[in-house]
Amino acid sequence: MKRIRIIGMGPGKEEGMTIEALKAIEESDVIVGYTLYLELLSEKYKNKEMISTPMKQEEKRCELAFEKAMEEKDVAFVCSGDAGVYGMASLIYEMSRDYPDVEIEVIPGVTAALSGAAELGAPINHDLCIISLSDLLTPWETIEKRLRSAALGDFNIVLYNPSSHKRKDYLKKACDILLEIKSEDTASGYVKNIGREGLMKKVCTLKELRDEEVDMFTTVFIGNSSTKIMGEMLVTPRGYKREV
Ligand code: SAH
Repeated sequence: MKRIRIIGMGPGKEEGMTIEALKAIEESDVIVGYTLYLELLSEKYKNKEMISTPMKQEEKRCELAFEKAMEEKDVAFVCSGDAGVYGMASLIYEMSRDYPDVEIEVIPGVTAALSGAAELGAPINHDLCIISLSDLLTPWETIEKRLRSAALGDFNIVLYNPSSHKRKDYLKKACDILLEIKSEDTASGYVKNIGREGLMKKVCTLKELRDEEVDMFTTVFIGNSSTKIMGEMLVTPRGYKREV
């Protein structure tokens, strides 16, 4: 069978995977993915072929997946969270034009916006914008425009890729743009290492968030004008007539 199933593995631990994702991995002949995720799977699937490439070699990883599929192997292409949220699903589809015989299927996973939201209570229970701060593939001007537009629309905002070695001050820059429009007291927070060892979460105001140091394993939440801090939690009311 010439098939690639693009599988979202959820935030980290096996309990966070869907049964459909687990089943697809079990049925596969080869597992392809980023080195870190394969390490998580290699314990459980000792006798399966595993192919990994490090970060920044995504195109190579996809090519290897197609090569294996062309050898009549059933390929499980694993991504963290959901493969269609800053994942490899679109690149696989784009490349599949060169491999018309390979069947492609996407199996959804729990993206960090959802698993992180669950850690903070109910921070995104209304209209939502997800914005990545990574300017590797998107020009910074576009990111700025999207941040401003999300703030003008009073959306709940979730930030992915809030920092990296080369982009240590990006969260600060993003907060400064949001603060042009949003109140300093806007309820905000972040979650680090969701579903993994070293889970850490914090709630704060948007002004305080500006000075927080976060890393690339962190997802950031910024409320709309109704979002409240309730102890350790963030709650965005849906509008039912009840004082929070
Ligand atoms: N496809 C992934 C997102 C990949 S982009 C998904 O759907 O979740 C990578 C960014 O996702 C990270 O910089 C971080 O902002 C977020 N992220 C992914 N997994 C995470 C985790 N376990 N804990 C915290 N943030 C995570």
